[in-house]
Amino acid sequence: MSRTFYVTTPIYYVNDVPHIGHAYTTLAADVLARYKRIMGYEVFFLTGTDEHGQKVEKAANAAGETPLELADRVVKRFQALWKKLDISSSDFIRTTQERHKKGVSHLFENVLAKGDIYLGEYEDWYCTPCETFWTETQLNDGKCPDCNRPTEKLKEESYFFRMSKYQERLLAHIEANPEFIQPKSRRNEIISFVKEGLRDLSVSRTTFNWGIPVPNNEAHVIYVWFDALANYITALGYPDEEGNYGRYWPVDVHLIGKDILRFHAVYWPTFLMAAGLPLPKKVFGHGWWTVEGQKMSKSLQNVVEPNMLIDRYGVDAVRYFLLREVPFGLDGDFSHASLVHRINSDLANDLGNLLNRSTAMVNKYFGGQVQEPEEPLEIDLAYRARSEAMVAQVEANMNDLAFSKALQSIWEVVSAGNKYIDETAPWTLAKDPAQRGRLATVMYSLLESQRIVYFLLSAFMPKTAVKALGYLGWEEAPTEAGLAWGGLKPGTAIVKAEALFPRIEDKGE
Ligand SMILES: [Zn+2]
Repeated sequence: MSRTFYVTTPIYYVNDVPHIGHAYTTLAADVLARYKRIMGYEVFFLTGTDEHGQKVEKAANAAGETPLELADRVVKRFQALWKKLDISSSDFIRTTQERHKKGVSHLFENVLAKGDIYLGEYEDWYCTPCETFWTETQLNDGKCPDCNRPTEKLKEESYFFRMSKYQERLLAHIEANPEFIQPKSRRNEIISFVKEGLRDLSVSRTTFNWGIPVPNNEAHVIYVWFDALANYITALGYPDEEGNYGRYWPVDVHLIGKDILRFHAVYWPTFLMAAGLPLPKKVFGHGWWTVEGQKMSKSLQNVVEPNMLIDRYGVDAVRYFLLREVPFGLDGDFSHASLVHRINSDLANDLGNLLNRSTAMVNKYFGGQVQEPEEPLEIDLAYRARSEAMVAQVEANMNDLAFSKALQSIWEVVSAGNKYIDETAPWTLAKDPAQRGRLATVMYSLLESQRIVYFLLSAFMPKTAVKALGYLGWEEAPTEAGLAWGGLKPGTAIVKAEALFPRIEDKGE
């Protein structure tokens, strides 16, 4: 039986414009999906858009269009950006699609039939922008604790989900499964939140229309988070056990920003428990980006526009930077200067130079042909052992979602390659006809190590890897078997590489 892997991004709200935060989550999911495909998994990689709710309804009214027209317009922006960022998603779910509405209604009815959704009355302080009710004690001076905007007292008939019933079970699950919520600091946050007590959750609204109607009571629409979270199963065809749902659920990892952790680590698992469905294996809440030291905000005009970054620096440089600069669970700062520094130092100097030097030398000394290596010396064996260790390290790091560390292990081998050239001094060997065999061995080691480097990098920088592997005479897609040393065959024609990443002279902004 083949191994499967299911990874998701959140579905992005169509009331937003795509920014670096969206790009970051989606990119991380893409790198993971690509890596797992190399390792032979059948991967389902889901992203999409969240299109319901009062904010969309209001924004559409203000723009003189229907909510669906607004969604159609914004969805195209997300889709165009994913194409430009080389995102290899398997599916794109929109919550306005029939398949989703059908699945959500089914889930709602299922939990209702089990008695864990009931009709009651709700009165509390409501924050319209956040679509969230707050208790008196949660408010900050009468304002919403999340967004600090004014709230209003609201009373409505509402369906409630018996979340309180699942408090102990959820806590026991979190404690028995340390991997369930990551990173650890986030896990601790959720544990204290759950320990403070879970209240029943209002899961319907009567104050607006733009949503999925409650089955058999159309005065209500289903609460946006109940609707949105269900995308992770409706996209798989839930409730139909045949096909993708039976094949890919439970999900291997939900990748999310830390701001929506509570919805994914408390609401969603308790909905699933009530419906009698398996829980996600992992929820990972990554950090936030500031820009040039400041929090991103529309009013500061410093929202980093991913399209602009890609146009200016190239897609693979942006992909590399975002995952290399900051450990995935932590907050990070974006600055043009640090991006330019990474391009010049890591990509142009270390990575690009190694490929240029090696392919130029094999062309100069051996007419561009890979030679049969001789018995290796200790220095060759050490370099090979390092390259082999990298494969194992990257595997461990990828399973921990430690993208930055994975890139670090790859770069250690890149640096080792540059050092290997300096130490073996091929230009000296080339002067002595008696050292032809030795020179052939050095060339082989250099090219073979880089072939493996680019196999791994193909998850992070797909276009660059294809280009580099082309110079190394490799046309096929990287596979797990190909990560073993010795894949490069004598006789292979090596092309002298052009600069993969030209140096950038400007100092950023
Ligand atoms: Zn708010």
